[in-house]
Amino acid sequence: MNSKIAYLDNNATTQVDPEVFEAMKPFLKSEFGNPSSLYDLAGTSSDAITTAREQLAKTLGARPDEIIFTSCGTESDNMALASAMSTATGGGKLVTTKVEHAAVGNYTKRLSEEGHTIVELSVDSNGQIDLDELDSALEGATAISIMWANNETGVLFPIPEIAKRAHERGVLVHTDAVQVVGKIPINLSELEIDYLSLSGHKFHAPKGVGALYVRSGSPVHSLVMGGHQEKGRRGGTENVAGIVALGRAIVLAEQHMDDENNRVRAMRDQLETALLESCPNARLNGSVNERLPNTTNISFEFVEGEGILLLLNMQGIAASSGSACTTGSLEPSHVLRAMGVPYTAAHGAVRFSLSRFTTQEEIDRAIEAMPKIIKRLRELSPFGRD
Ligand code: PLP
Repeated sequence: MNSKIAYLDNNATTQVDPEVFEAMKPFLKSEFGNPSSLYDLAGTSSDAITTAREQLAKTLGARPDEIIFTSCGTESDNMALASAMSTATGGGKLVTTKVEHAAVGNYTKRLSEEGHTIVELSVDSNGQIDLDELDSALEGATAISIMWANNETGVLFPIPEIAKRAHERGVLVHTDAVQVVGKIPINLSELEIDYLSLSGHKFHAPKGVGALYVRSGSPVHSLVMGGHQEKGRRGGTENVAGIVALGRAIVLAEQHMDDENNRVRAMRDQLETALLESCPNARLNGSVNERLPNTTNISFEFVEGEGILLLLNMQGIAASSGSACTTGSLEPSHVLRAMGVPYTAAHGAVRFSLSRFTTQEEIDRAIEAMPKIIKRLRELSPFGRD
């Protein structure tokens, strides 16, 4: 077994960029001041947060005071939903989709218990919503919460157009952009988005730091109440090192975006084409074109995704059979089911997701390993056939 892991699960999490690690290190050692205190040591921390806020705001086309630092994408999603629905005290209407991440999906269950009506849009076999269905759902709605890119398939929703249609009807717009920030350019000054969630560990910052963009003037409902941090919108002493890392990571992501996307897309396409050709009864899940450049989700019919992952793992290759958060559940992915993927194919789905640190060698190893793994599992499967 090759002792070096071939890491093809970057939608689950990414490695910390060495430059990001260097930037955050002082704030884990000598620069440990509490940003709210009044001496110079604290000032260094406080200034570092200001710089990170400006870096994030500039990259996203936002104003610094529109950025609220949080602990993760999940918290950002929860806060966006709580904020958007906070104005509809008697019970409002929230439009969302059947393919959202649990960070949105599970929070909408709470909103429903609180008396709000939740409308979930369906998707077609490519993972896309129908814009006419969207238009009718938006009538009389308070807010829409819709992910920019799907974490399992990489399918992109047309967020600029969706946001425009929502604003025409006076509907607040939240997008869960956890999988797109750092991967595609975003300019919020040109978009009709009120809330946007992001998470550092998806673009080479560490876990435990995220942010919520709230357009100036949009309602804010705090979930973490405490001190005056984040202008009283999110209490709790700041994760200074994490915030510094987030600022550095977004700058690096922007610098690398064009070149790396081309290189990553080419490797993703090479992997996808090779697996579809070399493994019988394999099918791509999700739209070919309206997709993140780093993600491919392929179903290998009549075998279990978990079986594939175990055998890949034995060869030091890391991939995923769905979103990391649903791993462990035997139910096939809700995203693939919503796309109408049959059970026999949904169970055998594997997601490979690349990053700018992915090497050709890692891709070659997956291309080499997969046909043998599928063949072996099919031989064991009662439905197996090649
Ligand atoms: N939203 C999407 C689309 C995600 O992919 C994830 C994580 O996988 C989250 C939200 C949650 O982010 P975090 O892990 O930072 O809580």
